[in-house]
Amino acid sequence: MRVVRTIEQLREATSFMRRTGQGPVGLVPTMGYLHDGHASLLRRAGEMCGTVVMSIFVNPIQFGPNEDYEAYPRDEQRDLELAEREGADIVFIPTVEVMYPRPIRSKITVSSLTTRLCGASRPGHFDGVTTVVAKLFNLVQPEYAFFGLKDAQQVAVLRQMVDDLNMNVEIIPCPIVRESDGLALSSRNVYLSAEERRQALVLSRSLQEARKAVEEGQAATTDEVRELLTSVISGSPLADIDYAEILTFPELEPLEGNFPLTRAEGEIIMALAVRFGRTRLIDNIIFTPKEVAALV
Ligand code: AMP
Repeated sequence: MRVVRTIEQLREATSFMRRTGQGPVGLVPTMGYLHDGHASLLRRAGEMCGTVVMSIFVNPIQFGPNEDYEAYPRDEQRDLELAEREGADIVFIPTVEVMYPRPIRSKITVSSLTTRLCGASRPGHFDGVTTVVAKLFNLVQPEYAFFGLKDAQQVAVLRQMVDDLNMNVEIIPCPIVRESDGLALSSRNVYLSAEERRQALVLSRSLQEARKAVEEGQAATTDEVRELLTSVISGSPLADIDYAEILTFPELEPLEGNFPLTRAEGEIIMALAVRFGRTRLIDNIIFTPKEVAALV
């Protein structure tokens, strides 16, 4: 595994792999403090690609002024061990100066898809994400890029960017990796106190219950499902709901409150963002109610 820290080294390393027939090239962008969710992306990339490039960069322009950019957990040594163990060939670890040597004046904005969910709670966040991912695509020129559905809105936004701008890369969405008790893995889970960690199970539990209620016909409309989600989450006194929404996926369009979910065309997403103290956690479930209803 090669560790590269400059733009020149990265371009040289990836073009060497391509020149010597070691493609296709897969890219796994991360902010580090790696866990098994990231490892699952590396493994998927390894199955599809001759060369796997992982980037580790806590991207300042996707954090708001009152967010956790400074506090974001970092552990380069541990990350490199995991990356090597999980088959990364090249790890790109730039500093902020390498990625943004001067104030950036060009940004990519994906409209509409970024107005709801995390786009509404974190103004400017997705511009930061699309801009840094576009830079990484230009640098690495991967055939495939791997992203987790833990950040489902990010997947939808990046697919739109790639389609709109004819970027020559295929986005591969990968399933959410969870702890055995259901909590979605996240680098931010380390912020949680023991009690917050216990109560944080309410995210995955409420999503499971909501899905079951739809499948069994106890909750038929978006209003009913939203009420069920918020009432289950409110059962945890430390939980402070940022949003609990039901939208079409990947268009992220709202469904009318009294719209029967089983009549939705295609997939829907139930998406949550919940604060525990200063820690904001997200989770979601994507499924097709029609198919599920047809099975029962
Ligand atoms: P991050 O380092 O949090 O920016 O995440 C880097 C990539 O890993 C993103 O594509 C995330 O969606 C993905 N990821 C983070 N957590 C998980 C998880 N629990 N399961 C699957 N993918 C994840």
